[in-house]
Amino acid sequence: MKINVTIWNEYVHEKQEPSVRELYPEGIHGSLARSLTAPDLEIKTATLEQPEQGLTQEVLNKTDVLLWWGHAAHDKVDDVIVSRVQQRVWEGMGIIVLHSGHMSKIFRLLNGTSGKLHWREAGDRERLWVIDPAHPIAAGLPEHFELPYEEMYGEPFMIAGDAKVIFISWFEGGEVFRSGFTLQRGNGRLFYFRPGHEAFPTFYDKNVLRVISNAIRWAKPTLSAPYPKTHMPDALEKISPKAYNLNKVGIIKE
Ligand code: ZN
Repeated sequence: MKINVTIWNEYVHEKQEPSVRELYPEGIHGSLARSLTAPDLEIKTATLEQPEQGLTQEVLNKTDVLLWWGHAAHDKVDDVIVSRVQQRVWEGMGIIVLHSGHMSKIFRLLNGTSGKLHWREAGDRERLWVIDPAHPIAAGLPEHFELPYEEMYGEPFMIAGDAKVIFISWFEGGEVFRSGFTLQRGNGRLFYFRPGHEAFPTFYDKNVLRVISNAIRWAKPTLSAPYPKTHMPDALEKISPKAYNLNKVGIIKE
């Protein structure tokens, strides 16, 4: 069965800034959809300007893995949509948050902390080190690879304590950053990946595409059951009757 992938992009910079449009004439979502095309993937795209911001319940129900790129319009994403995405992650949908998505409502909600970091837009050279080469997301990658120009993100990066780090970046200016990590939220898997500033051709880099492509396969649902509902089960074993007497322990005094 094919993995149903939805690539969500706020799609703002590409329309407002000619230089970004030149890099990504079909939008970052369109460019990724084209580059990630594979026989085992059914890829669709969704953007903020669409009805229900591109993420109707129907779309999400049919999504196995959701990719998220946002930057300028985090606040425009409705809380109702964010809850809907969170619910689907709890149920088992995978989510891959790219670059400036670290400040999106959905990432901050799932991550559980502010997601803040330091940044600099100076076109630093970035070197990504694979620190967990056995992880499926690192499959086929060299020990390290470089991007000639990127926005710098620096530590401390406010991420959850249970994050499993796969990539660490070094930047020309001297900073380091936990550039790729995973979280489990409910039944769903989350992968955050740092590179992907809109002003640079990062989403054409073969190693970056390999990471995203590996992450889609890794993040697909592993459990195709609805998220367990809480209930009051009958006891499996006989529970012996106990004579509670609150007077005896002195909580209630007569
Ligand atoms: Zn950026």
